[in-house]
Amino acid sequence: MSKYIFNSKKILIASHNIGKVKEIKVLLEPLKIEVLSADEFNLKEPIEDGLSFEKNALIKSSYASKITGIPSLSDDSGICFSDLNNEPGVYSARWAGESKNFDLAMSKINVSINKINNPSYDCFFVCALSLCWPNGKNITVSGKIDGKFSWPPKGDLGFGYDPIFKPLGYDKTFAEMEPKFKHNISHRALAFKKLIRLCFPSLDN
Ligand code: IMP
Repeated sequence: MSKYIFNSKKILIASHNIGKVKEIKVLLEPLKIEVLSADEFNLKEPIEDGLSFEKNALIKSSYASKITGIPSLSDDSGICFSDLNNEPGVYSARWAGESKNFDLAMSKINVSINKINNPSYDCFFVCALSLCWPNGKNITVSGKIDGKFSWPPKGDLGFGYDPIFKPLGYDKTFAEMEPKFKHNISHRALAFKKLIRLCFPSLDN
């Protein structure tokens, strides 16, 4: 049996990103436990200086669980473009600047890719999920979905870079897909499937 089985009555989502909190709440709904968010605790954001999604996810989950005493789940995610040496990667949020302007971030990507000879337009989203208990026990898993850069941005569902990402095998961007549909195939969904198997086996079907 996994030593990471979750049997607390509460979980804290260690994120201030409304888009992510919303998606994670939907994914956790069947657990019927109290789901709290970082905003309710005025939690500061720790410095994310890890060079991988997994490291940054652990920085966030361990910080939140230590401060609140509640098992905390964090998500560190982003998009990587092959034509840009996998940038913006762990800096995906930072490319949108202080004002979190993703129209600007998407335009920056378009300008950068247009400077490349024979771009492949290959890209992928990664999501690392980290669950950390107040005693320091922790587990981190990740999921990845491949796709193609698509310009101009299309769709107004989802968040962040969704309007310029077309997952392989689909003719729509993430932002044109119904949230339920995206939640089934996304990098976050794939990471969640792994987490469920290890920590929430009652949800595994
Ligand atoms: P961080 O994990 O909070 O450092 O930020 C990751 C950034 O990557 C987010 O602000 C989003 O812009 C972007 N991102 C992560 N997952 C998704 C997604 O599912 N759709 C669109 N953008 C995403």
